[in-house]
Amino acid sequence: MRLMAPGDDAIPLRWAWAEIDVAAIVHNVEHLRRTVAPARVWAVVKADGYGHGAITVARAALRAGAEGLCVALVQEGIELRSAGLDAPILVLSEQPPEQVPAMLAHRLTPIVYTDAYIGACGAAADPDAPVDVHLKLDTGMQRVGAAPDDAVRLARSIDTAAGLRLAGVSTHLAVADEPARTVSNEQLATFDAALAAVEAARGPVPVVHTANSAGALAWPAARRSFARVGIATYGISPGPGVDDLAAPLRPVLTLKARVSYVKRVRAGTYVSYGWRHRFDRDTVVATVPLGYADGVPRRLGTLPDRPGADVLIGGRRCPIVGVVTMDQFVVDVGDGGVEVGDEVVLIGAQAAERIRAEDWAERLGTIGYEVVCGISPRVPRVAVVDRGHGST
Ligand SMILES: *Cc1c(COP(=O)(O)O)cnc(C)c1O
Repeated sequence: MRLMAPGDDAIPLRWAWAEIDVAAIVHNVEHLRRTVAPARVWAVVKADGYGHGAITVARAALRAGAEGLCVALVQEGIELRSAGLDAPILVLSEQPPEQVPAMLAHRLTPIVYTDAYIGACGAAADPDAPVDVHLKLDTGMQRVGAAPDDAVRLARSIDTAAGLRLAGVSTHLAVADEPARTVSNEQLATFDAALAAVEAARGPVPVVHTANSAGALAWPAARRSFARVGIATYGISPGPGVDDLAAPLRPVLTLKARVSYVKRVRAGTYVSYGWRHRFDRDTVVATVPLGYADGVPRRLGTLPDRPGADVLIGGRRCPIVGVVTMDQFVVDVGDGGVEVGDEVVLIGAQAAERIRAEDWAERLGTIGYEVVCGISPRVPRVAVVDRGHGST
């Protein structure tokens, strides 16, 4: 007996899964390419493709014309190489220096910003086959990156290291999702001054990149050689301030389950741990076999002063009642008509209704990124190649 994700002939792995709409990834990358042209798009597929499955996303993004990929970890890059992906892969921050030989062996491009790491890359590189590195400057994010004042010195030290080639210079915007604020212009001005100094000192740098998704959508001056596009690839808005610019994107992930149990409950009874929800009328409830171990936050059903978040069943919105438990939660389905095995949509569309990752984010006081990255590996991902037909 083989347990498999839905769509396969075998027995389903569980009554819960995430569908990844490959056509939506292609649509989003094509839209982003048109938006940033003549700049290019590199797809950011760190954190297992923001919870969507890095290999599925990387393949679709490259097919749609993305020219490179970005990851956070060396291991993430190695997994892409092991899947046969040959595109350029940028590792977005310095990693444990012990990993540098493996990084170079898998043709992953390091981002560098310290003498120690430039030294480690130089030591691992083959002087006869120079390795491209990108220098990162911190222009205001205050997370990683060299001080702009250090840019010329570090560029020279890359230039003089046998086996290294300065292929790119980059920075990262901190407030690009708020187009009304001027921070991004200030960051870009700081960056341009440092870049001009580097180019005056040692000649032109082949590639420059500064934009994340919000930068790509809202800041034409940030697009440069390519944009490092993460969240927009997945059809999720980087933030409310750029919702209008993100509107042409299509959400890629749908989180689904099947009703696992249905029962009648009486007015005056309670549900779930802590008895935090009291039924004020007789009703019917359905159990959904997903919980916080799957990335459905415990408090989604019990935030103060409002009904629980809705799920979609039979094209209708049904509120979560009581706290979400580790593996299951309960929804009020009113006068019923709901049966065991019915499809439940937690994030995504059903009939005329849609619930977006951004809706959960707004309710939970976070961002869509955290919602999709939080969907745990316990939830099978099913790549839907042609909605309503085959799947892989
Ligand atoms: C994660 C990341 C990105 C992608 O950001 P999005 O907002 O998801 O587009 C781009 N650049 C760097 C350095 C990152 O860490």
